[in-house]
Amino acid sequence: MWERAGIVAVGDEVLTGETINTNGAWLAQALLQAGSRVMWQLVVADDEAAIANAVRWGLQSVPLVVMVGGLGPTPDDRTRAGVARGLGLGMAVDPEWAAALEQRHGGHGPSRTRSIDAQALRLAGAELLVNHVGTAPGQLVVGPTGAVAILPGPPAECRSVAAALTARIERATARRIVRHSWRVYDLAESELAFRLGSLLTGADGPRTGLYVRPGVVEWRVECEDGSPEAARIPELLAEAERRAGVPLFGQEPAADAVALVRELARRGDTVAVAESLTGGMLSAQLTAVPGASRVVLEGQVVYTEAAKVRAGVPPALLSTEGAVSCRVALALAEAVRHRSGATWGLGTTGYAGPEGGDRDHPVGTYYVALTGPGTSVVRERRSRSDREWVRGACAETARHLLALALAGRLPPGADEP
Ligand code: ATP
Ligand code: MG
Repeated sequence: MWERAGIVAVGDEVLTGETINTNGAWLAQALLQAGSRVMWQLVVADDEAAIANAVRWGLQSVPLVVMVGGLGPTPDDRTRAGVARGLGLGMAVDPEWAAALEQRHGGHGPSRTRSIDAQALRLAGAELLVNHVGTAPGQLVVGPTGAVAILPGPPAECRSVAAALTARIERATARRIVRHSWRVYDLAESELAFRLGSLLTGADGPRTGLYVRPGVVEWRVECEDGSPEAARIPELLAEAERRAGVPLFGQEPAADAVALVRELARRGDTVAVAESLTGGMLSAQLTAVPGASRVVLEGQVVYTEAAKVRAGVPPALLSTEGAVSCRVALALAEAVRHRSGATWGLGTTGYAGPEGGDRDHPVGTYYVALTGPGTSVVRERRSRSDREWVRGACAETARHLLALALAGRLPPGADEP
């Protein structure tokens, strides 16, 4: 019955962009997992009439509208009143809620009492959605025209109250959506879409889509848990891999910095990085992880040719191959590994743009090299995006390469340009 939902974030600060609507992003996923697909999201001001309009408009399109924010005790928190107006419902202080709030948070002094009273205002017929983190409880009103849930804005409270809501949705919809995603590193989005063909558009298959991040395209598939579609997922994956002609990576091996640092630590391995194109981005990502000091030995930014030479790249190599080349990337990785004594060495070089590049290496061309025990691998990639994207893509490629090596999924000694 609540298979489709809409989310309304309430708050002037969200509307102006001072607060990023992270609740909306998180909630859409939580609702989906509980079985309710979010069809739209809206942001409205802390304004009673605007909130009331949003509720009325929302219920014309979906059976469940989830309001987030503006549940506090101060006069600028208008969500309860706006929803009451939108639904034509009354509100009254619920003595039981007020007593519970008072017991949990202490209720002395006039301002405290006012604050508790404001937060114990219950819409007529609303169910309580318990808040384990803060004071304002969430509410759920199930009416003849649809249901409206109200959740608090502070993210930790929003999540706490959302847990009560998603439990209700799961009971009401009796279905759960499972989402699978696979990463593809070796093809551009358009090429992957072309190769997957009908798997992306098949009307009778599960809902699927491609999502692009720098350096990686994710293919996502959603289906209902326990459905015939869900049973066919392994078959679908095999067919996709056959059509794509390149590996599709699921959860493993994870290429995020947290997973890499954990895996390096588990093995007792270390890494050192020499970065030209990524200018320290890769080192920053790795060292942002707690515990990095045990596994990251060193990170160098070797931007100029002179710096590359000082780092150990033979000058002759630079003049014959050029700084943006497969062999210079390898030389960087080898040199930093050798000097630092790390198990693994990574090197990056390329043209981030918008200017630069040459006939054979247009802007967006980059090389990532990894050297390690019995390993010496380079990847060449080309991206047509902007500078930030190219740098991000290069760092992603480097992390993926290291992840593959740690998982033993690179052919030993392979030198694949
Ligand atoms: P409070 O009792 O703290 O006032 P509230 O339910 O009234 O709670 P808001 O006043 O809307 O919530 O917001 C409180 C805090 O939560 C603010 O710091 C705000 O930046 C943050 N917040 C509000 N809405 C969102 C959102 N959609 N995404 C992320 N953070 C949010
Ligand atoms: Mg508030």
